[in-house]
Amino acid sequence: MTDLLILGGGAAGLMAAGTACARGLSVTVLEHNPKGPGQKLLITGKGRCNLTSDSDVKDFLPYVRRNPRFLYSALAAFPPRAAMELFEDLGVPVKTERGRRVFPQSDRAADVLAALRSYAAGARFVPAHAEELLLENGACAGAAANGREYRAKATLLATGGQSYPATGSDGSGYRLAAQAGHRIVAPQPSLCGLVSNDADCRRMMGLALRNVHLTLLCDGKPVFAEQGEALFTHFGLSGPLVLTASTYLEDAAAHRYVCEFDLKPALDEKTLYDRLTREAAALGGAAAPALLERLLPRSMRAPALARWGVPPAARAAQLTRAQKQALAALCKHWCVPVTGLGDLEHAVITAGGVDVREVDPKTMQSRLCPGLYFAGEVLDVDARTGGYNLQIAWSTARAAAQNL
Ligand SMILES: Cc1cc2nc3c(=O)[nH]c(=O)nc-3n(C[C@H](O)[C@H](O)[C@H](O)COP(=O)(O)OP(=O)(O)OC[C@H]3O[C@@H](n4cnc5c(N)ncnc54)[C@H](O)[C@@H]3O)c2cc1C
Repeated sequence: MTDLLILGGGAAGLMAAGTACARGLSVTVLEHNPKGPGQKLLITGKGRCNLTSDSDVKDFLPYVRRNPRFLYSALAAFPPRAAMELFEDLGVPVKTERGRRVFPQSDRAADVLAALRSYAAGARFVPAHAEELLLENGACAGAAANGREYRAKATLLATGGQSYPATGSDGSGYRLAAQAGHRIVAPQPSLCGLVSNDADCRRMMGLALRNVHLTLLCDGKPVFAEQGEALFTHFGLSGPLVLTASTYLEDAAAHRYVCEFDLKPALDEKTLYDRLTREAAALGGAAAPALLERLLPRSMRAPALARWGVPPAARAAQLTRAQKQALAALCKHWCVPVTGLGDLEHAVITAGGVDVREVDPKTMQSRLCPGLYFAGEVLDVDARTGGYNLQIAWSTARAAAQNL
C-alpha cells in the first residue's frame, strides 16, 4: 500500500510526485506513454517551455478562461513566484521575456523535465495504463493497471486533457473520473485554429498578417478583440491571435461566429479613405487593381478585388466616392465566417473536463469520492497562452500533494 498513487506522469503528476516525496510520503506513478513521463512538457513553448507567467494572482486570473475562481486558493498557496523559485532551487535558472512569459535560461524544455524527474526521484515509476479506479465503500482505494491492482491511501488523477494524444494525454482520464461519478464537461479543442468554409482562406494559404486587429463576433456581438498576428491556412485561420480567439468560442454549431479583421488598425476609416483618394488620383489612368498593390500583400489582392466588386479595367482616377469608401470599409472589416474549431490533435489544450463544482478547490479532493484527487488539465480549467496552463498544473498538483 503506497501513500499516493498518481495516474499520469505529466506536468501535474511530476510536480505532485516531487512535492509528496519531499513530504516523506511513498509515491507510485503510473505512466502509459512508452517513451516515459513528461512527453508533452518537452514540446511546450516550441521546445523552450514557457513554464509560468511572472504575475501575481490578481493579474493571473483574468487570463484563465474557464472557472478562474476555482483556482484562487491553489494559486495563492503556490503562485508563479513560488514556482520560479522552486525551479531555480532545482537547478533551472529562469528568465522573463515579453508578456511576462517565463522560460528556463537554457531555452530547453528538457531541462525542466529533468529537474522535475530529479525532484520526483524518490517515487516509483511504473510503465502502465490506468484502466480502472478501485472503488470500495464509496471511496477510492487505488487503481487497476495492466492486470494488477495498485492500492493507495490517496489517488491523484493527473491524466491531462485530450489534445496532442501522441504525448499520451488521450482522454482516458475522463472515463476514470466518470467511473467515480464525476460529471465531465464536454471536452473541446482550445488554443487551436479556426475552421472556415471561406475559399479565400485557401487562396491566401501561408499568408501571415502582422499587427492586424481581430474582433470575434458571436451572432453579431463582439466577444473578443485584440491586435496581433494571424495566419491563413488550408482549413481556415491560425496564428497566435486566432489561437487566443479560439478560447472564446462556445458551441460553434449553435452560434454564428465571424472573425472580422481590421487590416489597417493604425488608420480610422475616414483617414484611410482620404489616403485612397490621394493615391487613386496619383495613379491617374492606371487600372484600379494598382491601388490594391499599395494597400495589401500580394496573395490578398485577387480575393480583395473580387470582394470589392470593381471591374478590373476601371481607372483608378475615375473611382467613385462610394467605390473608394467600399475599399476602405473592406480593409477595416475583412470578414471570415467560422464554421468550427480546429482538431484536438493540434489543439494546444483541451477545454472542458472534470466539473470543478465537484472538487474541493483547497485540496483538489473529490467531493463525491474520498481518497480521489485531481490536478492539471483533466479539470475543467484552461487559460490563454503565456505559461498560464503549466502554472495551473503546478498549483493544482501542489494543492493536492500538500493536503493529502
Ligand atoms: C504543443 C504544446 C505546447 C504547449 N506549450 C505550453 C507552454 O509553453 N506553456 C504552458 O503553460 N502550457 C503549454 N502547453 C499546455 C501544457 O502542456 C498542458 O496544459 C500541461 O502539460 C498539462 O499538464 P497535465 O499534467 O495536466 O497533463 P499532461 O502534461 O498532458 O500529462 C498527462 C500524462 O498522463 C498520462 N496518461 C494519460 N492517461 C493515462 C492513463 N490512463 N494511464 C497512465 N498514464 C496516463 C499521459 O501519457 C501524460 O504523460 C502546451 C501544450 C501543447 C500541446
